[in-house]
Amino acid sequence: MIERPDVISLAGGLPAAETFPAAELAAMVADILGSDPGALQYSTTEGFEPLREWIGARHGAGTERVLVTHGSQQALDVVARALVDPGDLVALADPGYVGAIQVFRLAAAQLMAIPSDADGMQVGALEQRLHAGARPKLVYVVANFNNPTGATLALERRAALGALADRYGFVVVEDDPYGDLRWEGVALPPLASFSDRVVTLGTVSKILCPGLRIGYAVAPPALASSLVLVKQALDLHTSTLGQRAVHRLLTTPGFLAAQLDRLRPLYRDRAAALADALRGGLGDRFRFQPPAGGMFVWGEFVEDIDTQRLLPAAVASGVAYVPGAAFAVAADHHRALRLSFVTTPPDQLREGVRRLAAAVCRHT
Ligand code: PMP
Repeated sequence: MIERPDVISLAGGLPAAETFPAAELAAMVADILGSDPGALQYSTTEGFEPLREWIGARHGAGTERVLVTHGSQQALDVVARALVDPGDLVALADPGYVGAIQVFRLAAAQLMAIPSDADGMQVGALEQRLHAGARPKLVYVVANFNNPTGATLALERRAALGALADRYGFVVVEDDPYGDLRWEGVALPPLASFSDRVVTLGTVSKILCPGLRIGYAVAPPALASSLVLVKQALDLHTSTLGQRAVHRLLTTPGFLAAQLDRLRPLYRDRAAALADALRGGLGDRFRFQPPAGGMFVWGEFVEDIDTQRLLPAAVASGVAYVPGAAFAVAADHHRALRLSFVTTPPDQLREGVRRLAAAVCRHT
């Protein structure tokens, strides 16, 4: 009998579970339940006021602009329901975040694929489409450590996108789950600093844990009340207990800084191990950008290797990834793949790449 190795999955986008603040949460939840009757009661749709204040302060926005949601995924759905009518144009980078593609397809939007490169969405290409008469209602951007490409939108592209939003009247949705996970270089200014037409989506999924499902939208004042109405119809409000627990964690002096200080070097070392292994194992055959933050490496085979067709061989060799085609908006990305490095320790990352290289050799 041939023993199949356990598959090392570099496919998922799961944060490292050993960083979840379980013990702190257990103590806080016990305390909240013993002292705050509101923790198990119905509450307002907008969210737990002290948490909204904390989020607003972090984004330099008034509390009235903040809506707490069931993860940032729900925030995106709420924004789409509030803004997008069937047939409306929605522009997004190609390749794109699968969860966003799903939301916009469900809203029956017409997707406008904007090519992207190592500096993120090619805002010049968007501008050309606008000049030619295209009128998107919304432009969706993951400006920091994009999922799937890992790319960060360059400063001049941020400024240009803000100016285009003002000129053509579309709303920019900046989805930013990964901005805090930067271990190299300096953070670039958020899109909201370039235009008032920006909705910022955030989440605690990648910095605390995803299971509590706490995310949010910070919207322009004119849009904020429509978002509340949509959210009310969907689920009345986000978990009262979850919001209180997250608020306690985030406002415990020193906690967030310490948590980020734990996450960043852990992810940095894993990213470095993956990048080294890819260089050693695949060399010039595979092109990728070593990440300065986030959770993903996106790379492309120089030869015409179809990563969808390679996948069964890779899994048989004991490693999994997500083929580029899964993130396609319009272009096919068949030579590309996405690898997540955060859940896997360095030795497993090296072994995963060794298996990937073996599968490539057998496949070609
Ligand atoms: N946006 C992007 C770009 C993501 O990668 C993810 C998580 N995969 C989300 C949103 C959803 O995050 P949340 O857990 O806050 O719903």
